[in-house]
Amino acid sequence: MKLVRFGAPGHERPGVWLENTPADGGDGILDVRGMAFDIEDFDAHFFSHWGLDRLRALCAEPDRKLVPAAGVRLGPPIARPGKIICLGKNYADHAVEFDSEIPEIPILFSKAATSVTGPFDPIMLPKNSGSVDCEVELAIVMGKRTKGVSEKAAMDHVAGFTVLNDVTDREVQKAGKQWFRAKSFDTFCPLGPFLMTKEEIADPQNLRLYSKVNGITLQDSNTAHMIFKIAYLISFISSTITLEPGDVIATGTPGGIGSARKPPLFLRPGDKAEIGVEQVGTQISPVVSA
Ligand code: MG
Repeated sequence: MKLVRFGAPGHERPGVWLENTPADGGDGILDVRGMAFDIEDFDAHFFSHWGLDRLRALCAEPDRKLVPAAGVRLGPPIARPGKIICLGKNYADHAVEFDSEIPEIPILFSKAATSVTGPFDPIMLPKNSGSVDCEVELAIVMGKRTKGVSEKAAMDHVAGFTVLNDVTDREVQKAGKQWFRAKSFDTFCPLGPFLMTKEEIADPQNLRLYSKVNGITLQDSNTAHMIFKIAYLISFISSTITLEPGDVIATGTPGGIGSARKPPLFLRPGDKAEIGVEQVGTQISPVVSA
């Protein structure tokens, strides 16, 4: 299934994206709350109360409530996550372009939940900042409370995958001794458009991912090149941190970021930033001044 949240910012409703719906043949969105009043949102409660099983049943009902998808705003596909855990330098080519040091154990940092925005919403550049760029990442969405899980059992705890843009202010990142601040401005975490449930993705370690600014390709790689793979990451993180349903893990970005180019290519007002992960989704973010 392709889970979406649709409607005005802060007032999104949970939905399931359906292709070629019978009404007019166009794409439609199953209005989940319109069919099941107790499913308020795609949040921790939803995932821990058989939410995905209930959605499958709703999709199979003969009398479905559908909204035409055309022109509808999509928000992030999960309600505000409790945690956004990110991987630093999880692709060797990015580690080399960043500071030439390949990590021996996963480097973890976080983004503030308030930085999350929709997949087609504007990225707002902070005032007086000229050093913001994009990072395309495959993101894992947890489906269960997870502590101390083995690598072998890790995938049983995953709800699915989405696309995350780890937008970063490089000057702020260099000035601080940590990365949290530089990556947590409002709108610095476009998420979505879909939460693709895991059965939709044949092999999450073999997906092309790319970023483009104004149509020019910056990053073009494959999740096969991650240094630390998805199952290992979940096991590693959950050895110290309890993961909860709806938590997001951003698995790192490949080489090619704008700030590492010569000359550097940073986002400017009026730009269009596009990122995509094969089978998972594509985002297009207009860039504006805050
Ligand atoms: Mg990143």
